Amino acid sequence: MWTEIALFFCGAVIGHLVPRMTWLVLPRFESWNQQFPPHPEPIPVDEYLTQRVLNMRTFNRLSIVFAMIPLGFGLASLVYGSLGLGLGMWMTSCWTLLARVVGLLDKGSPWNIEMAQELQLVRNSSVSEDRCCNSAMPVWQVMAVRCSACNEILLSRARPDLGRPRSDGFVKGTLRLILSEGHPLARSASAEHVGKTLK
Ligand SMILES: [Zn+2]
Repeated sequence: MWTEIALFFCGAVIGHLVPRMTWLVLPRFESWNQQFPPHPEPIPVDEYLTQRVLNMRTFNRLSIVFAMIPLGFGLASLVYGSLGLGLGMWMTSCWTLLARVVGLLDKGSPWNIEMAQELQLVRNSSVSEDRCCNSAMPVWQVMAVRCSACNEILLSRARPDLGRPRSDGFVKGTLRLILSEGHPLARSASAEHVGKTLK
């Protein structure tokens, strides 16, 4: 009985983690992050950032493919092996699959096309005539995109996880990411302070 319960939890953890390996592990290699300052420093709003947001979106969508692995093994375990392990894997991977398919509409995802477009708009504004100041340099801080020269808020959007290796260590950082699903932990800065670029 207890063994089955332990196996169920074991299966549930595997079924939960395997589909998330795409964005939890893949973007965090050092060679993928050389153009970015270390976490949690502000990240410059440039073409690399826009590309990273789009890559994170792709990695997140790949979870659908990765969810098939515990789904298959879970089913096999249900039929031929341990009921607890199979049920655990099957339930969590089914749940992830469902959540990701619904998330294909981009609404619930921490990384989406609108985000990349908004960042691009900020970039365009920072070199246009009505930029915030003469040495405009947009950076994405935890709470919002601000100009690092004049500190004006250019985009009121809290920063999600961007795939950089975590400053709080592998175990603590990964645990935080699993709980937050990549969403920002902080709420975005007040919209009333949004700078003239988006008015
Ligand atoms: Zn400025």
